[in-house]
Amino acid sequence: MESTRILLEAHEIPTHWYNIAADLPSPLAPPLLPDGTPATPEQLSAIFPPAIIEQEMSAERWLEIPQEVREIFRLWRPSPLVRALRLEQALGTPAKLFFKYEGVSPAGSHKPNSAVPQAYYNREAGIKRLTTETGAGQWGSSIALAGQMFGLEVRIYMVKVSYEQKPYRRLMMQTWGAEVFASPSKLTETGRKWLAEDPENPGSLGIAISEAVEEAAGRADTNYSLGSVLNHVVQHQSIIGLEAKKQFDKIGLYPDLVIAPCGGGSSFGGIAFPFLGDKAAGDKRAEKLRAIAVEPTSCPSLTKGRYTYDFGDASGFTPMMKMYTLGHDFVPAGIHAGGLRYHGASQLVSQLYHAGLIEAVAVPQLATFEAGVQFARSEGIIPAPESCHAIRAAIDEALECKRTGEPKVILFNLTGHGHFDMSSFERYFAGSLEDFDYPVEAVERSLAKLPVVG
Ligand SMILES: *Cc1c(COP(=O)(O)O)cnc(C)c1O
Repeated sequence: MESTRILLEAHEIPTHWYNIAADLPSPLAPPLLPDGTPATPEQLSAIFPPAIIEQEMSAERWLEIPQEVREIFRLWRPSPLVRALRLEQALGTPAKLFFKYEGVSPAGSHKPNSAVPQAYYNREAGIKRLTTETGAGQWGSSIALAGQMFGLEVRIYMVKVSYEQKPYRRLMMQTWGAEVFASPSKLTETGRKWLAEDPENPGSLGIAISEAVEEAAGRADTNYSLGSVLNHVVQHQSIIGLEAKKQFDKIGLYPDLVIAPCGGGSSFGGIAFPFLGDKAAGDKRAEKLRAIAVEPTSCPSLTKGRYTYDFGDASGFTPMMKMYTLGHDFVPAGIHAGGLRYHGASQLVSQLYHAGLIEAVAVPQLATFEAGVQFARSEGIIPAPESCHAIRAAIDEALECKRTGEPKVILFNLTGHGHFDMSSFERYFAGSLEDFDYPVEAVERSLAKLPVVG
């Protein structure tokens, strides 16, 4: 019997990240300040170390992965590429379905792929403390883990509702030595302002980002770290697609379709961009490759948003980025895929989508859980609610292959396991999960408040 797991050796962990900025059809639009002038590296240095700023602005195709980072990656990388043979059989599809399983990291998702290098570059720059925000807790636990590995103190502002509803994610962060506060907190101006208006404020990702940025900007020994959206995070995540390419080489296959969930866009860019790089280089195998970003219908930044300059956070602290956005003060419905509740999307993903080089689809919540349960019952792994979005789209494509008889090779990013999300499965089984329609009016209201550049 052939194995369904395609594995790599530790020495095959990539030595360089891929940066798609080198292969864009036109240069990336720069981040701007509200007066319309480009944000400078000096301004970013209040919260980021020099190496991260350099990566953020880099148009070099290949960026070296530090040896110390590769050594930590060995704890869980290379991650397996798995042929979902039992799912194929259950669907009766001629398609070959593969998933890259990122749930093998200690934090249970792809996010440590960027948390580890971010902690490394900050320690190299003499930084002692990191602040960040977390919603559902995936990014917070990843940065808590990475901070611990490099001897950095980590302070996490966790959206208050999650802090109360997800005690196990919080305990994970505390086990790795991080301090965790419910946001809005009394520790920052921003937090105190929101609490004065409403002591019962349940918090939001936007408020938590503002608190973490405020603290980092105000202390010389402290920097801020972000878990998605920015160019350097997308570059770090390219390790997923680079490994997958080596794994496909081993079995002499190449994907026709690459599919990933899309919140801020780093897990999508991470798996898809190395293949799009082949396409840009004229590789015949990649000629007809399609890459599909999957988002929730309740927060459809790519499929329904506007391509324009907007802030990255709710308070307007960050520079403005040119991206698909639903408006920076858009508050998405409380779907269980917390990692997909972001108003915007990576500038790189946005530009490629605008140029028609990638595709996007939006899927409703219930259909994603249905797909996730079908996946768990055939492949064993219980997926994170975010990952269920990619599974939904992959199953839909596999069923389309059944109709047409095409034996396509489909690759999707299984970004994490759902072991800390079992209460959402409980609600799904109890029939109390909802589908949320596209919130036309709320989006119109927040788009009306887009910043005016210059
Ligand atoms: C954060 C998260 C996502 C979304 O990732 P982006 O890179 O922001 O698009 C997807 N899946 C899991 C499991 C996550 O934790």
